[in-house]
Amino acid sequence: MSEKTVRVRLAPSPSGYLHVGTARMAIANYLFARHNKGKFLIRIEDTDTARSDASLIEPILAAIKWLGLDWDEEIVYQSKRIDHYNQFAVKLLEGGHGYRCFCTPERLAEDREKARAAKGPMRYNRRCLGLSQDEIDKKLAAGEQFAIRLRIPEGATSFDDIVSGRLNRSNEEIEDFIVARSDGRATYNLAVVIDDHDMGITHVIRGNDHITNTFKQVHIYDALGFDLPVFGHLPMILRPDKKKVSKRLGDKDVGEYRKEGILPEAIFNYLCLLGWSPKTDREIYSVEELIEIFNPDNFNPSNAVFDQEKLIAFNKAHIMLKPDHDLAVELAPMLVEAGLTTKYWLETRWEYLRAVVGVLKGRVSRVSEFVDHGGYFFDFDYKYDPEAAAKQFTKEAGPLLTELADRFEQLEEFTHDSTEAVLSQVAAERELKKAKLIHPTRLAVSGMKVGPGLYDILAVLGKTRVVERLRKAVEYIEKQ
Ligand code: GLU
Repeated sequence: MSEKTVRVRLAPSPSGYLHVGTARMAIANYLFARHNKGKFLIRIEDTDTARSDASLIEPILAAIKWLGLDWDEEIVYQSKRIDHYNQFAVKLLEGGHGYRCFCTPERLAEDREKARAAKGPMRYNRRCLGLSQDEIDKKLAAGEQFAIRLRIPEGATSFDDIVSGRLNRSNEEIEDFIVARSDGRATYNLAVVIDDHDMGITHVIRGNDHITNTFKQVHIYDALGFDLPVFGHLPMILRPDKKKVSKRLGDKDVGEYRKEGILPEAIFNYLCLLGWSPKTDREIYSVEELIEIFNPDNFNPSNAVFDQEKLIAFNKAHIMLKPDHDLAVELAPMLVEAGLTTKYWLETRWEYLRAVVGVLKGRVSRVSEFVDHGGYFFDFDYKYDPEAAAKQFTKEAGPLLTELADRFEQLEEFTHDSTEAVLSQVAAERELKKAKLIHPTRLAVSGMKVGPGLYDILAVLGKTRVVERLRKAVEYIEKQ
């Protein structure tokens, strides 16, 4: 790595939400910056007024924050820099790197039509490159509108790419592209080069769908006398149908994953490994570990398919790694939203929530499943699973549950071991298999036929709740 402090950027366009493709780019840039003790910057590319939607900027930034990607310095907004870009278009013209193009859109469309019919190259035919000063002056005097095109020299263009090595393209394939439109506004490619230069970007890491832009941008760097940054074009993330992820195809906002119970560290880990390899068999890493081991040589140059199932498996692994307290923080608003409890109730029962999380965490793949699997810890009006009730809440079960309730009530210490001892003792005295007691007890205290270990549930619920629930189940049985 060079001596210069690494400076990279994410440059989202607010024309859609932050989907996994952009999130993946954000993560690669973030890791690159943090691994190299450099800076990670954000630029909002909001000059395309037809496609940009300012109301998407906040959700994009919120998703970046949620992923844990803290950025450095002030965010740069392209829309605030338009006049600045426009000066450079004039500079290119005056410096002889650009020329005026008076061709109207209709004329250009006709040219393209002819080229298509003749199966010739579709690039601009340089009609205006040959205009004499006299002709130009006349057109200007007549008030004809013009765009500014960059003149691409003969030869070939190449640059080094972190992911794919050296990339070359014949200049025949790079047309004299427009750097300023007829209304004087700089085009996207010009704005990006000026920004990357002004922001001191050392490494431009973006999607490989920008390679064609990079070949053009290299000529702008040359014409303006700017040093080239290092480029890295990452492969795309594809949907399972092999199409590029996009909002248009219904791919979701990364922020949606939070609602679906996915942890940001799981998405971070999964997206990082989608196209980058730690070169070991291990897959589950914390963000800190990824920052430590990140190495840009290990990018995979081929496009990768986003696999939702795999993301869920990563999520399950990260749920196990996450401290119970932190999971409780994620879970609390979901419980409130599901109407199972209130913020105030939870505020004074933080220990309880943490204990619930500890008991259930091995059984869930999404944070939201704590709600699905553990509602009974909060909602005391749960219904008994009807099939299980028909099977377990028999006439014989009633007295057994009463006996358990009575004995549990006597316990001084209400723990996993003490409740297990009581249940075993009752089973032994009555010469019953323990299952005969375990199943109805589980149903009585949770309403469910399956779940975590029964004694764990009992210990978390505590004596008062357990006894109350057992007696309630007895009443239910007696009414049948
Ligand atoms: N705004 C571009 C995009 O969203 C990013 C271009 C770049 O990174 O240079 O694809």
